[in-house]
Amino acid sequence: MFAFHLNVPAGVTRLEAKVDFLATAAATGFSAGASTSANLAIVSWNEFVLYPAGTPAAEVKIAPSIKVPEGWKFGTALTRSSSEGDTTHFQPVPLDMLVDSPLLAGRFFKEIPLAEEVTPKHYLDMAADGPEDLNIGTNELAAFSDLVRETGALYASRHYNSYHFLLTLSDSVAHFGLEHHQSSDDRVEARTFLDEDLNMLEGDLLPHEFTHSWNGKYRRPAGLATPNYQQPMKGELLWVYEGMTQYLGDVLAARSGIWTMDQYRSYLAASAAEMDHRPGRTWRDLQDTATAAQILYGTSEQWDNWRRSVDYYPEGELIWLDVDTTIRKLSGGKKSLNDFCARFLGLDGNTPPKVVPYTFEDVVANLNAIQPYNWAGFLKERLTSKSPRAPLGGIANGGYRVEYTDQANEFVHAAESRDRGVNAWYSLGMIVGSDETIGDVLIGSPAYRAGLGPGMRLVAINGRRATDELLHQAIRDAKANTKPIELIVENTNFFKTIKIDYHDGEKYPHLVRDAHTPALLDDILKPMTKHVERRSAE
Ligand SMILES: [Zn+2]
Repeated sequence: MFAFHLNVPAGVTRLEAKVDFLATAAATGFSAGASTSANLAIVSWNEFVLYPAGTPAAEVKIAPSIKVPEGWKFGTALTRSSSEGDTTHFQPVPLDMLVDSPLLAGRFFKEIPLAEEVTPKHYLDMAADGPEDLNIGTNELAAFSDLVRETGALYASRHYNSYHFLLTLSDSVAHFGLEHHQSSDDRVEARTFLDEDLNMLEGDLLPHEFTHSWNGKYRRPAGLATPNYQQPMKGELLWVYEGMTQYLGDVLAARSGIWTMDQYRSYLAASAAEMDHRPGRTWRDLQDTATAAQILYGTSEQWDNWRRSVDYYPEGELIWLDVDTTIRKLSGGKKSLNDFCARFLGLDGNTPPKVVPYTFEDVVANLNAIQPYNWAGFLKERLTSKSPRAPLGGIANGGYRVEYTDQANEFVHAAESRDRGVNAWYSLGMIVGSDETIGDVLIGSPAYRAGLGPGMRLVAINGRRATDELLHQAIRDAKANTKPIELIVENTNFFKTIKIDYHDGEKYPHLVRDAHTPALLDDILKPMTKHVERRSAE
């Protein structure tokens, strides 16, 4: 639907075309969401590039150039060739590399080299709403350098000429991460480096997107390795592309010291608990969430415990933890997923950006080369399971179990403060967002049975105007008596009184050590390299 059909007169050898790009201001949505503010801009070339149809993207050469506002600086994986005034010209690149090389420009901009002894070179390019937002701490910076070192040890290769983390710190742009071969487009809240909670919540972003340079860009599922942007992609192996990346990214966050081991365990507990409270798993298996990715990325969060969402990220993570701990157990500790990564992602050592596609059979063959086992059966069982319970075998093999207590989980608590809401998912069975509006209700939970649903607004709790703190208190108080919690809710302009008969108190997930099993999970989180710079925080 974005094709322009032209009748080119005979003898014409050159066409000039002009396209206007209208920047959106609403800071929601994925890469088409807001990307500009008064002080910065993220340029995604695919938003406005014109190219001949039907030609493989690798065969279309483009000579890009850009003019940025006076005084602005920028970072990109493109190679500069010349500049005149505020205009910079880049060396010609194939269309696929142009689309894979966004540019981050800003008035408040800083470029910091990371792990300077490592070649190829790595840069942290930051643009922010205000100059103070660029004040990254020395510990955080040291951890990013250690992330570079840890990936070298884990993946035994690099597949870029240089790598740029393009980090946008802004409250005026859409927040997400998007992987590229030689860079990543990482967008977080303006105050991420000034706020401990935000810093922790975003801790897995850079390790995740960086890992995609190996797992996703270099090694790519055959169904996603399409020659141009017209051919539909097939997402059936996204549980490798995203699931293994989610697992490795989080492990790397701990190995490089971005997260403490406690923070990693809190994260994993929260993520595993969510997958273990997903009644939709009884009708939709994990494989189908990958196959339906192009639909599920855009669906509402409401009722996604029944619809399921892009669950191949968090549940893929659980499966790859299961794979890692199973290799470690079967090999008596001699082998691990680290060996699989070096073999599968480091196939032919250091290379410039290139794509080496793979199939399900390739994944199985590479696992068997590290540790012979019925890997095809192991994976298929987990991909097609309709069990109401999540695959928590990796956590058990790792020497831990998920338990629920009335003590807040660090991640859940940080997300509650960021979103100004209440996570009562494991107690009442609902999430309440800002303005006391119910974000979602867990099918089969006390809240669900009482008649609550997403979109309804809490007006009063036990006769008083609803607040977050009052809801926490009502759940705690109900533990000591037999009276139901009484709510007045507004449902599309109608008011209703609802009683929830719940008396088990607040519940939050935690990973608890199981003394009968070796702590393989602790081994997995140990750094592979001797860190050059030691940080004071640990
Ligand atoms: Zn990803």
